[in-house]
Amino acid sequence: MSNLVPEISKRRTFAIISHPDAGKTTLTEKLLLFGGAIRLAGSVKARKAQKHAVSDWMEIEKQRGISVTSSVLQFDYDGYRVNILDTPGHQDFSEDTYRTLMAADSAVMLIDVAKGVEDQTKKLFQVCKQRRIPVFTFVNKLDRYGRNPFELMEEIEKVLGIRAYPMNWPIGIDGNYKGVYIRKQAKIELFERSGEHGQWALPSTQGSVDDPAFKELLGEEIHQALCDDIALLDVAGETFDFDKVTNGELTPMFFGSAMTNFGVRLFLEDFLEMAPPPVPRMSSEGFVAPDNDKFSAFVFKIQANMNPAHRDRLAFMRICSGKFERGMTVYHVQSKKPIKLAQPQQFLAQERTIIDEAYPGDIIGLFDPGIFGIGDTLCQEGSVFTFQDFPVFPPEQFARIQAKDTMKRKQFVKGMTQLTQEGAVQVFHQPDYPVESFVVGVVGSLQFEVLEYRLKHEYGVDILMNKLPYSIARWLIGENLDGKAMKNMDSGLLVQDIKDRPVALISNEWQLRWVVERNPEVEFLVVPEDA
Ligand code: GDP
Repeated sequence: MSNLVPEISKRRTFAIISHPDAGKTTLTEKLLLFGGAIRLAGSVKARKAQKHAVSDWMEIEKQRGISVTSSVLQFDYDGYRVNILDTPGHQDFSEDTYRTLMAADSAVMLIDVAKGVEDQTKKLFQVCKQRRIPVFTFVNKLDRYGRNPFELMEEIEKVLGIRAYPMNWPIGIDGNYKGVYIRKQAKIELFERSGEHGQWALPSTQGSVDDPAFKELLGEEIHQALCDDIALLDVAGETFDFDKVTNGELTPMFFGSAMTNFGVRLFLEDFLEMAPPPVPRMSSEGFVAPDNDKFSAFVFKIQANMNPAHRDRLAFMRICSGKFERGMTVYHVQSKKPIKLAQPQQFLAQERTIIDEAYPGDIIGLFDPGIFGIGDTLCQEGSVFTFQDFPVFPPEQFARIQAKDTMKRKQFVKGMTQLTQEGAVQVFHQPDYPVESFVVGVVGSLQFEVLEYRLKHEYGVDILMNKLPYSIARWLIGENLDGKAMKNMDSGLLVQDIKDRPVALISNEWQLRWVVERNPEVEFLVVPEDA
């Protein structure tokens, strides 16, 4: 057995996916509290309060109190080493969130009990589903009026296409909840708002929901409703199948309230027990097992200028196999160069700590001299491969941008090059366009603002930006792919991506159908072929 196994098996690396306002910040904070990281928890909140936090590096974040980039929080709990990948909460900035999910082994889907499955949750869930990563559901804000839990289960099933298995069940009638019944332990926990953590538990050794003590405690009507619900779940509900959870076909569902800390510890403990440790990852050479002694990692995020005083650029990578040791030399596959990993950083909210060693499942940030790109692989010399399965998200909004002052051309091109490498935007060019300009594609329009802001503040370049009337990009395969040879492209635009691959920008689905029909000899791909 590899001596990495004990380290790997105690690691849990996950992301929380939710719609803004469902309570992600609050839940993250509570989880950190359980990990004994009280100060850190405060700093997570501070981000919301628009004070200092690592991810406040950008003014936009401060002004809006939202997080547009993600960082990583690590803590220990009950023998586990927990890595929470913090994702941007804003619905407009989903590309970065999607990429962060590539580094997770599981996800916690946070749902507001009154609102159910919302848009952003749907999109993020789809990425988890594609990657077949296990999703654990936490239905939040149970201290408030909420929807019927059966209805929520049905919604999860219908809208997301995954069955839910309630681990605990809200007690109460008509959305007015008193607490939860924990199925596995046949135990009731009730809200007790004045308690230290806002929670109070009544353990039961009777092992059955129809325990008379429960009736006495809850009152006849509520108790009867609970008995009926549990009977229905036991008879008609899904059986708990751990393999289905691991394959992403079944989501264990928890009810609680992050704010009042109700049901959070229970959730954390069950989650840590069930969530998978780092698993093998697909690469060009087949699966790479985490306990493979040879180090490997991939870059899932690049963030420049986190600290304006330093103007640094950090590449975040997820370790997939082997042990990381400070100062080790690894091979960067994309540049075909050996690289010494000298100053690894780990992020604990405000603090950066230099780390000496790290294991599969851990995330490290490295100073990047400008060589890394999203999705790049690092491995040990002699075992060269690339990690696959890194998604490209087709941009949905486009704009043409150029420097206001043509004298700033050099800085403009430099800024654009770096921000493209970071994956902040996707860039296209139009060879025959008379002025030095780029066509920029984004998934969410906040990315435009971030781009404009960063070019100004980090590169000193003011830009002119004209939004373009397209919403679809298609990578083209075929002969004669120019505007004259192709039919019905007058209302679209032909551009090239950074690898000079031809791309058609098209205004809407209707136009797309029309163009596809009229050009049967051309293939239209949603993402580039070797992406
Ligand atoms: P995020 O946008 O998902 O990070 O959400 P926040 O954690 O900032 O929470 C959004 C709002 O919901 C805040 O006002 C929280 O205080 C509130 N909130 C979070 N959890 C709960 C909860 O369990 N119960 C209630 N009543 N409110 C909550």
